[in-house]
Amino acid sequence: MKTCAIVGVNWGDEGKGRMVDLLSERYDVVIRYQGGGNAGHTVVNQYGKFALHLLPAGIFRPTAVNVLGNGVALDPENLWTEIEDVRSKGVQVSPENLKISDRASLLLPWHRELDGLEEERLRDRKYGSTKQGIAPFYSDKYQKKTVLAGELFYPDRLREHLEELLEWKNLTLTRVYGAAPCSMEELIAWIADYGEKIKPFLCDTGTFLRSAAQAGKSLLFEAQLGALRDLDYGIWPYTTSSNTLAAYAPVGSGLPTAKPDQVIGVVKAYSTCVGEGPFVCEMFGKEATRLREAGGEYGAKTGRPRRVGPIDLVATRYGVRVQGTTELALTKLDVLGYMEQIPVCTHYELGGKPTEEFPFPAALDQAKPVIEMLEGWQCDISGIRSWKDLPEAARSYVDYVEEKLACPIRYVSVGPDRDAYVIHQR
Ligand code: GDP
Repeated sequence: MKTCAIVGVNWGDEGKGRMVDLLSERYDVVIRYQGGGNAGHTVVNQYGKFALHLLPAGIFRPTAVNVLGNGVALDPENLWTEIEDVRSKGVQVSPENLKISDRASLLLPWHRELDGLEEERLRDRKYGSTKQGIAPFYSDKYQKKTVLAGELFYPDRLREHLEELLEWKNLTLTRVYGAAPCSMEELIAWIADYGEKIKPFLCDTGTFLRSAAQAGKSLLFEAQLGALRDLDYGIWPYTTSSNTLAAYAPVGSGLPTAKPDQVIGVVKAYSTCVGEGPFVCEMFGKEATRLREAGGEYGAKTGRPRRVGPIDLVATRYGVRVQGTTELALTKLDVLGYMEQIPVCTHYELGGKPTEEFPFPAALDQAKPVIEMLEGWQCDISGIRSWKDLPEAARSYVDYVEEKLACPIRYVSVGPDRDAYVIHQR
């Protein structure tokens, strides 16, 4: 059995969807194992351009079975919109090629509402949530106050469970936030609608994955966001509420014993970060606007302008380490083509001393980036498909980053399209 995880090494938006779309051809099963509709994986292929939020990017491969594991925040409303969208563009989605874990918890309408209410309460101290209900969802899950998707098959028990949850949740809505309570009728109507829509896709994905593994099928785990957003290892509290690391893939997928033997870390050729929180190498002013425009750095879910900066080798090396990457894909190299000289953050200065170690989250605010300039190539490389055709300065940039990250870069992406990449040769 071949197992591989494709994960983000930075703050997310590295181009994981693009890499899963490319590499899923070689895998029988593609599994999303954490996160929800709060970030988008952009995929450009023969069917069109998509911003997938929950559907695994293997959905475009006719031979792949796609799984949403128990670790995801299963938002049936968003998922259904996404299924209808890809179907309208000619993509087949059926219980044969999409299997949803019956152990995944449902993200309910009140999770989205609570997310908005809490950001409103925090005002200028907000975390920069995408208001998709992800933080309230995962905190409820850890309090064991969510509904498992499989409960849809036990209507009497489900009704009782919803009544209990409603009573509890209305205390928070009304007493903490002064908002209107949710009614049982609304909840039941929502469940009847979206629950029925996703029911045909539900199954015990653990059993499915175990038999796939026994039959020697290959498994590809697809992560959302990046290492620096991991709940335990990221820039806490400006993290997401789930574990974005490859190490969590087996647990969140339904096959806890399947250790990925290959971990492909996706690294962007420069840095971007959405929302609040410390971002040591951030660029400002005209320089930042130019890079943001060149890279089209606006959130796939929210359209928010992303904060931008040079590649941060300190943060990226940390990301490589916590992800346990076996190889890397360096994306968006083409975007740097306009720069005469390319800034690179080689290390930080903290407390007047240089450091190459990524600091504890509370110290990040005091870290200063130390920048080195590398030679630019100043031309459009998006049409290049072979290593030897890349300008020498572009090859040097890739080699330099590889050496500093101490992990082999295998894929160099030069455009959003499926075939716009180069295999790194040494
Ligand atoms: P993900 O969440 O990690 O999948 O990343 P996003 O989809 O949020 O952001 C990546 C963006 O960059 C998308 O718009 C992709 O189409 C685009 N993209 C991916 N790889 C490349 C590349 O090599 N060059 C360019 N110019 N765009 C790319």
